[in-house]
Amino acid sequence: MKTLKIAIQKSGRLNEKSVELLKNCGLNFENYKSSLISPVSNFPLEILFLRDDDIPEYVQDGIADLGIVGENVIQETEVEVSYLQRLGFGKCSLKIAVPNNSDINSLADLHGKAIATTYPAILGKFLKQQNITSDIRTISGSVEISPGLGLSDAICDLVSTGGTLKSNGLKPFADVMSSEAVLIGSKAIAESNLVLELIQRIQSVLRAKETKYVVLNVEKQNLAAVTALLPGVKSPSVVPLAEEGWVAVHTVIPERDFWDRISQLKQAGAQGIVVMPIEKIIL
Ligand code: ATP
Ligand code: ZN
Repeated sequence: MKTLKIAIQKSGRLNEKSVELLKNCGLNFENYKSSLISPVSNFPLEILFLRDDDIPEYVQDGIADLGIVGENVIQETEVEVSYLQRLGFGKCSLKIAVPNNSDINSLADLHGKAIATTYPAILGKFLKQQNITSDIRTISGSVEISPGLGLSDAICDLVSTGGTLKSNGLKPFADVMSSEAVLIGSKAIAESNLVLELIQRIQSVLRAKETKYVVLNVEKQNLAAVTALLPGVKSPSVVPLAEEGWVAVHTVIPERDFWDRISQLKQAGAQGIVVMPIEKIIL
């Protein structure tokens, strides 16, 4: 069987989460910091550790079959690859920011101004859509210091919390794109069985992350009120307790409305609520 290759970031913001995701998929490999390739011992897969900027092209050219990389990098490199799965980490936005005391107040004010960025292709497209002509200055890093040095009037850079902007006296001004890590595949490989197997494993890990396993006790007379609040995968399991008139309910709850759901369950008569993380959900 052909061995697949998946490219992930060697070091940086996406490395740890990419490795964690693959390990949670049951893939067994050494996370060598020094080597470029690590074989997976229990799946026909090799992991290539690369700079994130190189990943889209490697996948497009078929040197790697799959890759994990930020959408921002894919859009900037303008490659032909298949988007296979959003991965829910590495979330950030590409924003235009200006100095706190800037007289740039609207997008139109950017006309004729200098904007420093490491994302000239994405920024260029965005400005074109807005019918704005600015002087895009492509620099390779530390974009946030360029207005202070007098190199530009504005910047266009990735922001997650906004802390870096703030500490450099900048304020976010316009959203250009939002981004997260995605699994991409070369056009040729996207449909193969091995790829589908890997995508299914990834989805089962992502699904499990979004849900918690909950066990609670409830008096039989309150059972209907409690189960009405529980969607479960199909329906909750109900197990009799040694104490007459009581049952234990086992179910899963979505992470996003978790605390609301728990307080509703308590009001409906649930007691001794135990909450556990889930490793995988296979549908
Ligand atoms: P490399 O050495 O691989 O080229 P890099 O320095 O270009 O790394 P990182 O800073 O590690 O890249 O960021 C990798 C990706 O993480 C970004 O392309 C983006 O998709 C995502 N990311 C999430 N939050 C942020 C953030 N606050 N700033 C920058 N990137 C972020
Ligand atoms: Zn990079």
